Amino acid sequence: MLLNSILTILQDIAPLDLAESWDNVGLLVGRRDSDVSCAMTCLTLTDVTLQEAIEAKANLIVTHHPIPFKPISKITDDTTSGSLLLKAARADIAIYSPHTAWDNCARGINQQLAEELGLTNIKPLQQAVSPKYKDECVGTGRYGSMVATAIGDVLEKLGTALPIEQARHTHTLSKTVSKIGIVCGSGGSMLGLVASRGCDAMLTGEATYHQCLEAEAQGIVLIMIGHHASEAFAMKRLAGMLQESIPSIRVFASANEHSLF
Ligand SMILES: [Zn+2]
Repeated sequence: MLLNSILTILQDIAPLDLAESWDNVGLLVGRRDSDVSCAMTCLTLTDVTLQEAIEAKANLIVTHHPIPFKPISKITDDTTSGSLLLKAARADIAIYSPHTAWDNCARGINQQLAEELGLTNIKPLQQAVSPKYKDECVGTGRYGSMVATAIGDVLEKLGTALPIEQARHTHTLSKTVSKIGIVCGSGGSMLGLVASRGCDAMLTGEATYHQCLEAEAQGIVLIMIGHHASEAFAMKRLAGMLQESIPSIRVFASANEHSLF
C-alpha cells in the first residue's frame, strides 16, 4: 500500500492540526509514493526499536516521539538522532510521528486515560482552537469527575489497564480525589491549567521536583505513573486501530521497547 494512503488513515485517527504549535508531527522521513507492506508503532525511535523494525522488514515506523524534533542543520553519526535517521533512511524505513495530535484527538491518549479512570463529563483542559472542532472533545489534556476515590484506588484501577512499573504521588495514598486533570507524558508544566479547571488531582507521566512542590502548595494531588507507562500502551492500541483499518499490510507494536523507569 502506498505510504501516502496510510498517512491519510493515520491523519483521520489523529488530525495533525490538533498538534501543539511547538511540535514537529507528520511524515519526518520518507517518500510518500513508497510501498508499505509492514508498519511498526513504538513510543520512541531508538537503536532497539529501529533494529526491531529492520529485522521485521517494516517500511514504516510510527513513533510517538518525533525524531527529528527540533530543526537540525546536520544529519551525521556524530549524534544519536543523526545515526538513527541515517540508519532508517538506509533501510528505506519511513518515520511518522503523530505525537501531540495523538495526545489531543478524540480517541487519543488523554481521552483513553480519562476513560480508563472511568471519569464522567470528560472535557479537554484546553479545547482545540479551530472552529472545525468546536463540537468535539478534542484539545490539550482532559479533565473529568469521579466519586471521591483514594489515590491508592485510583492507581489500582489504572494498574489493571496499564503496565505501571513505578507510580509516584504527592500526598498520602489514602487522600481522596474527585476531579482529575490528565496530561500524558511530561505534564508537570500544565499544573496551572489543571488548577484553573478546579481539579483536585492531576495524572501525568512525570513532573519535576519543583512542580511536585508547587502541586502540594496548591493542594493538588500529583500522580505520576511514568512517562513510558502513560503513553506506550496507546501505541499498542494505535497498532490495533491501524491493523483494523488496513488489513492488507502487517501492523505491529514494538515488543522490544522497554521503560527506563
Ligand atoms: Zn511522551
